[in-house]
Amino acid sequence: MDSYRPGQPSDGSAHIESLAAFVTASPSSFHAADRAAELLLVSGFVEVTETEPFSPLPGGYVLVRDGSVLAWRIPERLDSPAFRIVGAHTDSPGFVLKPEPTSSFVGWQQAGMEVYGGPLPNSWLDREFGLAGRLVTADGVTLVRTGPLLRIPQVAPHLDRSVNERLVLDRQQHLHPVFAVGRPDADLLAEVAAVAGLDRRQVLGHDLVAFVTEPPATFGLDADLFASPRLDNLASVHAGLTAIAAADDSDAITVLACFDHEEVGSASATGASGPLLETVLTRIADALGWDVQTAGAARARSVLVSADAGHAVHPNYPQLHDPDHRPLPNRGPLIKFNANQRYATDAVGEAIWRRACAAAGVPTQDFVSNNAVPCGSTIGPLSATRLGIRTVDVGIPLLSMHSARELCGVRDPGWLAQGMRAFYAGR
Ligand code: ZN
Repeated sequence: MDSYRPGQPSDGSAHIESLAAFVTASPSSFHAADRAAELLLVSGFVEVTETEPFSPLPGGYVLVRDGSVLAWRIPERLDSPAFRIVGAHTDSPGFVLKPEPTSSFVGWQQAGMEVYGGPLPNSWLDREFGLAGRLVTADGVTLVRTGPLLRIPQVAPHLDRSVNERLVLDRQQHLHPVFAVGRPDADLLAEVAAVAGLDRRQVLGHDLVAFVTEPPATFGLDADLFASPRLDNLASVHAGLTAIAAADDSDAITVLACFDHEEVGSASATGASGPLLETVLTRIADALGWDVQTAGAARARSVLVSADAGHAVHPNYPQLHDPDHRPLPNRGPLIKFNANQRYATDAVGEAIWRRACAAAGVPTQDFVSNNAVPCGSTIGPLSATRLGIRTVDVGIPLLSMHSARELCGVRDPGWLAQGMRAFYAGR
């Protein structure tokens, strides 16, 4: 991210390099929130502490709560108060370290991990991964990331020929990574604490997730494709950062809300079903001296773009898509539709997003599920339900969603950022 600041006009490859750096710097939701705030501070935003009153002054603000990060900009002139909000999430499916993580069995030392959300467990097999997150001591919170430390080894087909017929992974038995052999004295948490310069006895609590250590990479003909962990949904977080840092010309209050815990249903103090965004919008309104009428009118004029990864058509499984809606990488971000409100897009929200993308020269594609295939969901319907703000669901198309290494086109993330930038500007 050194040569590329959020807000700089981006060609696709500069944006992808910047995204790769952001993903690499963000192995956990805590790191993502921290890194996002760091980048916005470089762009002139001011850090807000939740226990202090909010400022009414024009300018950019950023607030980190655990693994969530919220940023907003108050413009110089606010003739017709409204919020233009981009929402995303900082977490990704994978594995979380258990409270007492170290065990020894048949000469090996292993780590106890809980499955977090809905990963593709097979994609984690035979990859080296580290642990990242936060350690809490009496003195406060320390973010930590280790080097490659763990691996879930596959069984050889010579020993079990059935693995080439039908791979069945028991979540307790078969997803148990190794980190040492012949070291019954080993203590995994002590190793992680040492990386943070702490003694194990100082650590009163830990929130640590697994992350694969292989860096993101472009590949394919003309390097048109991009492989990376956590594209769902750091590609949207990064696009939102790029857009809000650049959007200094808006006549509305621009907001970026990146929540934790989307992959496990969003019901938490830092998730989209919690009061975090509503609290922040209310406190901004109060700082600006809005009465209930003004605040209600502002909400009625507001729009939320919920950005989350979607599905490109898979050439090996085309039947899983609707035959008339088969999005491809590098054809533009998706607008996501679902009549049953798994996505919050309606015709008015759709029109607002299409207009912004057209103004930015960004192509769009439509996504709607095959009626016989279950549809995912996003923070869009949750936020819309909570806030009563018009919402449109969008996002870049992926293959291998929820894999340890997902795939997108190199142009879509930059286009998403440009569409958000135009949306923030009210184009
Ligand atoms: Zn997602």
